[in-house]
Amino acid sequence: METKLIDKFGRQITYLRLAVTDRCNLRCQYCMPAQGADIVERKALLTYKEMYRLTRVLSELGVNKVRLTGGEPFVRRDFMKFLEMLDFNDSLDEINITTNGALISQHIEALQKLKVKSINLSLDSLNRNKFFEITRRDVFDEVYEALELLENSELNLKLNFVVQSGINTDEIVDFVALTKNRNIDVRFIEEMPFNGVGQKETQEVWNYNRILSEIEGKFKNIEKLKDKKSSTSKNFKLSNSKGTFGIIPAFTRTICGDCNRIRITATGMFKNCLFDDGVFNVRDFLRNGASDDDLKELFLSIVSKKPKDGFVAESQRGSKVGESMSSIGG
Ligand code: SAM
Repeated sequence: METKLIDKFGRQITYLRLAVTDRCNLRCQYCMPAQGADIVERKALLTYKEMYRLTRVLSELGVNKVRLTGGEPFVRRDFMKFLEMLDFNDSLDEINITTNGALISQHIEALQKLKVKSINLSLDSLNRNKFFEITRRDVFDEVYEALELLENSELNLKLNFVVQSGINTDEIVDFVALTKNRNIDVRFIEEMPFNGVGQKETQEVWNYNRILSEIEGKFKNIEKLKDKKSSTSKNFKLSNSKGTFGIIPAFTRTICGDCNRIRITATGMFKNCLFDDGVFNVRDFLRNGASDDDLKELFLSIVSKKPKDGFVAESQRGSKVGESMSSIGG
């Protein structure tokens, strides 16, 4: 049997994004409606044992990096125990986490003892009122405390900033300014219609080019950095700055050519691309008694059909893009 996950465009899959839950303690406007996204019954979620097994089998096929996301990973009970389990897998070089930070502070010391390398902290405003307006929850202090603790820890810290037209675009330059003297990497993400509702009608477009020109309008000392292969962001820094900033063209999708990732949602839906609507439910396959070899055969076959890019994936969907990112695992 083939031992590596390689698609028909020659791209090798080495990176899994795994959603450990669909539940979240925030209600970010760009991610879900105020009443929250529809969550599934608990038994529909993959168990930690199932996630461990899927990750192990994938790691035997060359996946060496896992990002844990959600929903909010830290709201799932025993998430730290799951991390300890994953840490046993010697084939994994890196475990990373995407979090809103509201519940992470008490765990930072323990995280540093594990294979956790980097934390992506979602923070879309440094203004308390605006933070509340965006997240619909009053946890700015908790998140800011997490930011400072992470900054002073051994973990790499990236700030994820979703650029929201008419809401936080005035803070783009403030976030770039943060990188001058602080060891922080900011990533500006183009907003996508994964919000539980779908594409908004009257939205002014804040795409990669517009975000970059906003920054260039304020700073003259910008240096382009060499991007790592398969990086989702185009990266820059201000001369002599401690941190960096980058822009993720998540919606304009100019980064798909080097894609090395797959996703598994909290309910076990395997996704070849963020923009597909799920290609196979591996949870049911597992629960029906699949062996490791069955799983490997399945993964190899699915990945061989990975679409060329996010536009092709979207065109093959049965439904319009509009589900909440918390159900996909952003
Ligand atoms: N709860 C965690 C958090 O807030 O980071 C992890 C899950 S969240 C869905 C993962 C990432 O997706 C966050 O950085 C979030 O900002 C981003 N995201 C969610 N909805 C998005 C959208 N509609 N467009 C762009 N990014 C989005």
